Amino acid sequence: MKIASLIKSSTVDYPGKIVATIFLAGCNFDCEFCQNYELISPTNIEYISETEVIEFLKKRKNLLDGICISGGEPTLQGKELVKFIKKIKTEVREDFLIKLDTNGSNADIVKELKEYLDYIAIDFKSLDYSKFSNFDIKEILNNIKEIIELGIDYEIRITMYPEYIKEEDFDKIVEKLNTIGVKKIYLQQYQHAYKGVEEYYSLGTLEKFRKKFEKKSIDAEIR
Ligand code: SF4
Repeated sequence: MKIASLIKSSTVDYPGKIVATIFLAGCNFDCEFCQNYELISPTNIEYISETEVIEFLKKRKNLLDGICISGGEPTLQGKELVKFIKKIKTEVREDFLIKLDTNGSNADIVKELKEYLDYIAIDFKSLDYSKFSNFDIKEILNNIKEIIELGIDYEIRITMYPEYIKEEDFDKIVEKLNTIGVKKIYLQQYQHAYKGVEEYYSLGTLEKFRKKFEKKSIDAEIR
């Protein structure tokens, strides 16, 4: 597996838990606001071995609640990811928590991991995925629906990048996510656009969007 980096302890990557976080290289999207854009199509990275990560987790298993697997897009690692996660559960601790961050492009891998995952953060990025990927909104919504129907604790993350999440689309986005059964949303500001325009929504606009979810009985928070 292409493990590009390891954060040994994080309190922000898994709600209410202390975890280690690994970042896997490679992504099938190219979001203008990507915080880890150097991982999209990486070159010259010295990868960390799976053994090194597992040995580290074994040493810290009584100090950490679990691990967050982020990226890049972790599901691109396919069966290697499945094997790695199974290994954590067998070699580190059976109840070692596992959170997966995904852009929602591969529901099949997530389904294979059903019994091993404790929390999933799934991105919802836009009504128009053609701006940054080869995916279609229908495919992504279907994947999100299939993933949340697995019954694993989850959150949908919406990064409030005005080029992708347009204010005139707010109502339509709420309706689409409501239709597929979404119940938990986090709205978050983006940090920096590594390409494209830097414009930020005001907190008031985020709150307006949040309230639209609330009206549909969807738990939405700004962070
Ligand atoms: S899906 Fe995530 S990792 Fe991939 S380009 Fe977008 S923000 Fe970056």
